[in-house]
Amino acid sequence: MAEAPTEKPSTRHTWSRDPFPHAAAQSAFRALVPYCRLGESNFEVSADDTMTRVVYDARAGEADEIERLLQIAYERVLREKPAADPAPAPSGDRSRRAARRESTWTLGPGLQVFEPPAAALMAAIDQMIVRVAREIGATEYATPHLVPAELLDRVKYASSFPQHLLLCHSVAYDLDELDAFARGGRSDRGQLRNAGFALAPAACMILYPMLEGRSLDGALRCTLVGHCARFEGPRPHAPERLTAFRMREIVVVGTRAQAEAFRAQSLEFLTGLVDALKLPARLVAATDPFFGRAGASLATLQRNMGVKHELEATDADGNTLAVSSANLHGERFGSMFGIRDEEGNVAHSACLAFGLERWLHWLTSHCGEEPAGWPELLRTGLSWPVPQTEATG
Ligand SMILES: [Zn+2]
Repeated sequence: MAEAPTEKPSTRHTWSRDPFPHAAAQSAFRALVPYCRLGESNFEVSADDTMTRVVYDARAGEADEIERLLQIAYERVLREKPAADPAPAPSGDRSRRAARRESTWTLGPGLQVFEPPAAALMAAIDQMIVRVAREIGATEYATPHLVPAELLDRVKYASSFPQHLLLCHSVAYDLDELDAFARGGRSDRGQLRNAGFALAPAACMILYPMLEGRSLDGALRCTLVGHCARFEGPRPHAPERLTAFRMREIVVVGTRAQAEAFRAQSLEFLTGLVDALKLPARLVAATDPFFGRAGASLATLQRNMGVKHELEATDADGNTLAVSSANLHGERFGSMFGIRDEEGNVAHSACLAFGLERWLHWLTSHCGEEPAGWPELLRTGLSWPVPQTEATG
């Protein structure tokens, strides 16, 4: 398609600074670069022990703003203290393979439709996790895919991950405006109001308001599939960065011992699962890119506390992607929502999450889509022996 004649041509720019002192900082900087107005541009980041450099395309007049933001990102990462257990640098800027699966159809950026047999494989992955959930006494919950927008403020998602928010609008509740909207062409449809809803960006956050002010008799153990959405920019997406995706979670809310025991079970389970599947993956301490003033210290806290572990899988092309995470929240949600455990203390929580589309990508890249090639664990419906720990109930 020809570009609009008024558009100024892009030129190549280079921005560089001294190297960061450690791999975690390089990794944190890479994560921030797309948000320096580069999400829709071609850019390359070289952040290693010898240099920090961003080479990018920008039109005349845009480069100053991009470089102002790159400087902010650079300084924010520099202020961060080195972590005790640095997260590994991501696999770099290698271009990722576009989904080549025959039975995947792309509806829009990051929106995929799965036909058989891919859809069946995703269901088999989900069922494998559900069996594990049942074995630890978790029962199935069903949740909506929208949340009240204020919940995202309450759980501090909006202040930590503003880049991912997708907020809903509705046509004004007004006959004139409804008629105008119905008549209007696409460009004319400006009369939209904030509907007060957001697409759920994560699964388990929906459960905590349900428990608000409650005293639990014993641990709450549940499992759910969250239909989640995160804005990942308007460009064609890498397979691990879908706009709409499914997240199967197992969640435990209870005493500190119950939450910590579940987290230990989760790490053991993930390790055992990787051994059984015989596919390349490893458990790593993880951090997310944070925004706002508290950003750097939150990221450091998250790494040092070891509260989030990811199962970092390697696909058949050598690209790494996080397919699961085990999260220990401590008292975070218990104190936010006034939830008490069976002993009257502030409840603790933990969750184990599986990105179903990511799992599908990882497995099909190695095994193909046809059931004959699926790992034994998925084909036969074998029950996985879950490691037992003392704190149950
Ligand atoms: Zn969760």
